[in-house]
Amino acid sequence: MKALKIDHIGIAVKDLEETISFYRDVLGLEVGGTEVVEEQKVKVAFLPVGDSEIELLESTTEDGPIARFIEKNGEGLQHVAFKVENIKEAIEYMESKGMRMIDKEPRYGAGGAKIAFVHPKSSHRVLVELTER
Ligand code: ZN
Repeated sequence: MKALKIDHIGIAVKDLEETISFYRDVLGLEVGGTEVVEEQKVKVAFLPVGDSEIELLESTTEDGPIARFIEKNGEGLQHVAFKVENIKEAIEYMESKGMRMIDKEPRYGAGGAKIAFVHPKSSHRVLVELTER
């Protein structure tokens, strides 16, 4: 397996609209789209930049994973997503390397992607997302 590129960088935010104005009005990015991912209890905005994207994540509930993340760490960098060619193979490969996977099966992510998270304990405290799309 080989990570092909940084697909996106996930940033946990309290207020999507307020945060978008920084990336749009100050950094000059455009919002590629927004989407609610019910399964993860988040509202997501994607802002393409070059060959990658910024993913802003706002929790839709008080107890979702992003809400808990912000409670613990405050707003900010939440995960780094690497594009892979085949998510199922990537999960098997990671496990064969002794990596602990949060997701042993791919799940649905924003933009129709298939994703799986690597446990930060296996990836030096960075939450790594593998994504196929
Ligand atoms: Zn992501």
